[in-house]
Amino acid sequence: MTRSKLISFEFFPPQTSEGAEKLAVARKQLALLKPEFFSVTFGAGGSTRDRTLETIREICAEGHIAAPHISCIGSTRENIAALLQTYKEMGVRRIVALRGDLPSGMAAAGEFQYANELVAFIREQTGAHFHIEVAAYPEVHPQAPSPRDDLANFKRKMDAGANSAITQYFYNADAYFRFVEECQRIGITAPIVPGIMPIYNYAQLARFSSVCGAEIPRWLRERLQEFGDDLPSLRAFGMDVVTELCDRLLQCGAPGLHFYTLNHAGAISTIYQRLGM
Ligand code: FAD
Repeated sequence: MTRSKLISFEFFPPQTSEGAEKLAVARKQLALLKPEFFSVTFGAGGSTRDRTLETIREICAEGHIAAPHISCIGSTRENIAALLQTYKEMGVRRIVALRGDLPSGMAAAGEFQYANELVAFIREQTGAHFHIEVAAYPEVHPQAPSPRDDLANFKRKMDAGANSAITQYFYNADAYFRFVEECQRIGITAPIVPGIMPIYNYAQLARFSSVCGAEIPRWLRERLQEFGDDLPSLRAFGMDVVTELCDRLLQCGAPGLHFYTLNHAGAISTIYQRLGM
């Protein structure tokens, strides 16, 4: 397969020095795959602000393209403006702009309600400096009143000045292709890169999926549950499933792949080899 595709890897900022060392090793391994960029998540309300900044600084120092996530819920215009200025001074040119989810019980005080407001604010503050990515939901965002509203809201973010989008992970390629078609029908032509979640652990995947609304199809759930504590077999099976998903997405025209690495490199390197990338 040719490498004209946009490949990117997402990390979360580690909490401990041991986690930071492990991430540095994973990053080194993944850098060999020559991704477009490495992105780093940001806890809503600014809870990981300093650790996200630190991880972005390390990525820049290693000579890679870094894309910090910024989530705006619970934040002020002043805080976001200061963060944008810091990233500009660090030479960052790419941002993943999100609303974020506040931890339950935390009131949504702040000056932004939705990601489209953040995108508009980034453009107002920094013009065309940043390439802005936003989130997309082929299986519909869990809080959207309807798929049609969710699509209209996605368009609002693109119209506010986003350059491209990364999807929530999914295991149903048809949901992605249908979503892209619907976007094209309403005039969204920017790249919509599928988000890919490798399968490491069923309980963890089920927990993530229940929060973010990504469906684990029944056939997949049943098979994964059947492996019980047999992690090596679960991972081997998960690797087959995810490799086939990536292969189909790329063969059928997806512009690239964005991997939710969970700060691991091994599974992704193997998927790469199997895809012949
Ligand atoms: P929005 O686009 O604002 O949408 C949120 C909901 O509001 C949707 O239901 C939408 O239909 C609706 N909506 C949007 N605009 C309007 C409007 N103007 N009026 C009425 N309704 C509207 N979270 C983090 O906290 N940190 C991260 O680093 C992070 N990284 C992510 C990376 C990717 C690629 C993805 C897909 C998600 C990520 N998330 C992250 C999770 C994300 O913050 C949540 O999914 C959150 O619930 C929605 O964020 P959003 O930017 O899509 O929000």
